[in-house]
Amino acid sequence: MSLREAYVVGAGLAGLSASVELARVGVRVKLADSAPRAGGRCRSYYDPQLGQTIDNGNHFTFSGNQAVRAYLETLGSFGALQGPPHADFAFHNLADGSRWTLRINEGRVPLWAFSKSRRTPGTRLTDHLPLARLAMARRDGRSIGDMISSQGPFWRRVVEPMMLAVLNCPAAEGSAWLAARFLRESFLRGGRACRTMVAHPTLDAVFIDPALAWLKLRGTVPRFSERLRGIGFDGDRVATLDFGDHVEKVGDAAVILAVPPWVAADMVPELTAPDQFCSILNGHFAIAPPAGAPPITALLGATSQWVVCHEARVSVTVSGADDIIDQDREALARKIWGEVCATLGMSGPLPAWQIVKEKRATFAATPDQDAKRPTTQTRWQNLYLAGDWVQNGLPATIEGALRSGDSAARLALGKPLRYRPA
Ligand SMILES: Cc1cc2nc3c(=O)[nH]c(=O)nc-3n(C[C@H](O)[C@H](O)[C@H](O)COP(=O)(O)OP(=O)(O)OC[C@H]3O[C@@H](n4cnc5c(N)ncnc54)[C@H](O)[C@@H]3O)c2cc1C
Repeated sequence: MSLREAYVVGAGLAGLSASVELARVGVRVKLADSAPRAGGRCRSYYDPQLGQTIDNGNHFTFSGNQAVRAYLETLGSFGALQGPPHADFAFHNLADGSRWTLRINEGRVPLWAFSKSRRTPGTRLTDHLPLARLAMARRDGRSIGDMISSQGPFWRRVVEPMMLAVLNCPAAEGSAWLAARFLRESFLRGGRACRTMVAHPTLDAVFIDPALAWLKLRGTVPRFSERLRGIGFDGDRVATLDFGDHVEKVGDAAVILAVPPWVAADMVPELTAPDQFCSILNGHFAIAPPAGAPPITALLGATSQWVVCHEARVSVTVSGADDIIDQDREALARKIWGEVCATLGMSGPLPAWQIVKEKRATFAATPDQDAKRPTTQTRWQNLYLAGDWVQNGLPATIEGALRSGDSAARLALGKPLRYRPA
């Protein structure tokens, strides 16, 4: 019997992606989220301190991200994902003042590694060989530090900043397999696949609002501030969903649970799920960057890691930020502002600022935590899991969350998977 109705619990990217995939083929989708809005960890809001609508944090995707493209093309907002014409990465080392641009050539053959003017200064062609080795990693429990050396200029200037940003945990401790999956889908496919794309003007405008509008046209209006509190099981099926003030009978419907791992683990018996998380801190400054400033600069030798120039704002990301997350906000703002000034050649008093701390930004992408990621399918016939923490073959990313939602929907529909989790 074909699926006619599905409950999707959680309206973050995974839940939205699942809802879109189900609604596309005419399934009636009942979407609920405990928050008063959709988007989860990928959201925008008006910040009165800055007088601007901002994202909770800079979110980068890559031009080669397949699920991002498919999802946004369905919604009609793919064009609002903006990036540079080429995969150029501007770097500034605040420790010694040096600046360079890593220029990845378009095609698959890594000519950039052979060219002194394209690769990172202070590195040799042979330094790049470990990246090829890392890209071959299997899901065998090894960390990046187990597979390649975490010493020397190539590590400090290329691998460490890249992997810290992608895995959001100390680079040497990160899962070699997740690093490999990322490398194979980006750098190994050449510059065409690894231009850094940013949602313009906001995450909501590109990823969230178009999804809600698209779903509304197909009869799905999400219920917000509706927290799932428990799941009732009957044999090998989910029978009821307990929303506190009312209990819904599931009947023949499928249930896609697209909530954070700690919420799912409370409701699904014997569920193994990641239980260690890493934080991300973002600093926002209400000031227009100087004309001609690179859209994104990677900083070394600083607290700040990525400086992103928006039209009327400069935003800074610090991944793997557990060491500083509890520091005083104003002290952080002053420190980061000083680094922004040094890298963009700006000066002046601290402008209006905001520090956004996301303590459980992503699961820690270590081999141990990756091994705890459950599969989409559960032992209950009509229950599927979705989220960046469910096995999807990628670290906790937008691409991974969208793939995961898509996979949950396709399994519920009895269709073959579009994205392979391993
Ligand atoms: C600051 C920051 C920066 C990031 N930067 C990047 C980046 O540059 N690139 C990138 O690719 N990724 C980035 N990420 C990761 C990316 O945001 C996530 O991978 C993605 O948003 C996860 O989506 P999700 O749907 O899996 O989970 P979530 O967004 O967490 O969605 C889960 C939803 O479930 C809801 N919920 C929770 N409990 C219940 C309940 N009991 N009942 C009903 N609903 C419930 C929540 O309200 C939420 O809406 C970043 C994350 C953060 C926090």
